[in-house]
Amino acid sequence: MSKCGNILSQIVTRAIRRCLVGPNQQWRFDPPPQDWTPPPVKQTSLYLHVPFCRNCCPYCPYTKVTYDEMLVGPYTQAALAEVNWWADKIGHAEITSIYIGGGTPTLALDSVARILTLIRKKFRLTGDICIETNPSDVDDITIQKLHDSNVSLVSLGVQSFRSENLKVIGRNYESTVAEHALTLLVNGGFASVNVDLMFALPGQTVGDVIKDLAKATKLGASQITTYPLFTFPYTSIGRYLNLTSVRMPDLRVRRSHYRAITEWCVEHDFKRVSVWGFKRGAVPRYSSVTRDSYIGIGPGAGSHLPDEFVINTFDLNSWIHVMCEGRTAIALRMPFTVEMSNWWWLYWRFYDTRIPMDCFKAYFGKETRKAHRLFRVMELIGFAVHNEGYLELTEPGAFWLHLVQNHFALSYINTLWTQARRVPWPQTVVI
Ligand code: SF4
Repeated sequence: MSKCGNILSQIVTRAIRRCLVGPNQQWRFDPPPQDWTPPPVKQTSLYLHVPFCRNCCPYCPYTKVTYDEMLVGPYTQAALAEVNWWADKIGHAEITSIYIGGGTPTLALDSVARILTLIRKKFRLTGDICIETNPSDVDDITIQKLHDSNVSLVSLGVQSFRSENLKVIGRNYESTVAEHALTLLVNGGFASVNVDLMFALPGQTVGDVIKDLAKATKLGASQITTYPLFTFPYTSIGRYLNLTSVRMPDLRVRRSHYRAITEWCVEHDFKRVSVWGFKRGAVPRYSSVTRDSYIGIGPGAGSHLPDEFVINTFDLNSWIHVMCEGRTAIALRMPFTVEMSNWWWLYWRFYDTRIPMDCFKAYFGKETRKAHRLFRVMELIGFAVHNEGYLELTEPGAFWLHLVQNHFALSYINTLWTQARRVPWPQTVVI
């Protein structure tokens, strides 16, 4: 997205936010006060960020460094220290799920195993463990290690089975590597295997996308998550596209791909589980982002606590340094008002494409007027329907909502992550 596009995105998202959540909210992150400490928490999820990648893909905005074996030891020590730090502060909480992302967690599975052991000791783990995997790292040893750590849900970052598309996004392996990895995972005895696929890539046709869906399904994926290429200013995809004179597809292409994906998935017994995702059968749903509250371990990891959102320093060395000294790695904090918490909850239910109306009433209490008005407008224009106690998005509703959420994500993440990357301990960031 161009600089003008970013500014426009910011203006639009701020206007929508002001209209829905109200004009009196402080959407700003500040360094936490010296005496700040997280409140006790009874129940939460946990996110573990493993920041190593063999090749840094040009489109990827996540916090990562090129894999270096020498860094894994210090990373592990710091992550163990951070688990202890959270346990000291929030108490012996119930952990309802663990999500391990990155980076490429499969590059440091022995480290992950040690961190999980400490998490089990310090907290009460009652839920599933989900992990992201990369096609080039999946083999029998990886699968055994995942089982040894009781990981039950896995996601494979395939992106495309077509070598030409893989080249566009800087993946330097043949598509057969991804096919082999998926076959191993599907036969590996996991409760669910998700495949990430990209659509609307430069040069990709609807036929290419459908072939990718068909291949993932034939090889046995139980869930498919599709998403378009995001362009963040600080990633090198912009430069890459310029160098190769490849162009990003326009909105029409994105719309036709999205519609074709939905139609194909419905025809093949997949059920929509989010604006991007479809799953088949009774397998548990794999999801990285829809938890209501979580604590984050690792550089750049965020934590959603009661009434506030905090985020760690993005700088790996600074994170290792403070954690090993027993200090906090939290660089920025934004208190949440009741209104912000409510709309944050609703934002993720829209992402789920289903809003349970009884939960909605419990969250919003008497302050439902603006949300109801929004629901009515969505129904009138055919974006949502009421169905057995849920407000459900239709296919056009899911498409246009994914675009709106795309703008929100770009606007907020661009602003926050750009500044958080510039210096390890940023001052105020207004989003
Ligand atoms: S897309 Fe995955 S493998 Fe590529 S740099 Fe990002 S986290 Fe690493």
